[in-house]
Amino acid sequence: MVLSVFKSGDELFNQGVDLIKRKEYAKARKNFEKTIEKNGREAALAKVYVDIIDACLDQDNPARYNKLAASLGQMNEGFQFGLTEINPTRMALECKLLAERMETGRMPGKAPAQLEERGNRFLDIARKYQTMIGNDAIAISEIVGIQVNTGIKEALYIQALGYENLSSGVVMSDPKRAAELLQNAYACRKQLGEDAQQTLSTINAYSKSVKCWICGRPATGEGVHFLAMPSDISPFMRKSDDEILKSAPSDYNSIYVCKPCYSAISKRSDEIARQYHERAMQEMRAMEARLEAEIRSLSTRISMLR
Ligand SMILES: [Zn+2]
Repeated sequence: MVLSVFKSGDELFNQGVDLIKRKEYAKARKNFEKTIEKNGREAALAKVYVDIIDACLDQDNPARYNKLAASLGQMNEGFQFGLTEINPTRMALECKLLAERMETGRMPGKAPAQLEERGNRFLDIARKYQTMIGNDAIAISEIVGIQVNTGIKEALYIQALGYENLSSGVVMSDPKRAAELLQNAYACRKQLGEDAQQTLSTINAYSKSVKCWICGRPATGEGVHFLAMPSDISPFMRKSDDEILKSAPSDYNSIYVCKPCYSAISKRSDEIARQYHERAMQEMRAMEARLEAEIRSLSTRISMLR
């Protein structure tokens, strides 16, 4: 009688399988851990179950998927998780790709070389989804509860991210190329049914060319290599027919200025503002000192009168 209180590894395992069906993952995990401890018949499968549950409970952590991929690699036959039939080789591949995608998304840095590397990695992962998963749905997504896509659809998302990163990496040196790369991202997003207006307006900004009103140099890439500066273009000025005027914003409330001219003006005006600020502060401090001296002399006189 007393002995029956201590369940065997196999009993705990079967109970764990029922708990998975009821989606009580944390409880099921405890059972599988005990199955492994007691070296039950299904200890190997219990280990995979623990790793699947860990991925379910911590779905944004790429390390969980790498660990799960490794333990799935040890399985020779298919098995069930809840109601889902699992092909270990296939799911190991899905886990590796998912981890790779997450790790790439978290790569730090905004420098051109880093953006280029991240972009190329995304494109590489997208190719893998396209060729290795294709039109099949990604089963691991369903199990851990993230959006379920086919390999092709997932590839489109990742391709868009890839081209967006490559575009950001190149825009400082080659805005036209940046616009072309973003055009590819836009095509992917349209195929996914997104409206992608933001991408479209960035493409238009990157491909726009004007002449600087101050130095007359041509510049491509609005917001990056040239900017609109508030100004008044009088009706008289609007009549003239030169090329620079043609590149004025349509409301005539600003002029286009290339980044070098723009930054020279803003740096110089910052400097002037700083000088004024310092002079004003100096004068205030001198006035403060004068007032303090007067207050001191007044209080001495008052105390002498008492
Ligand atoms: Zn200029």
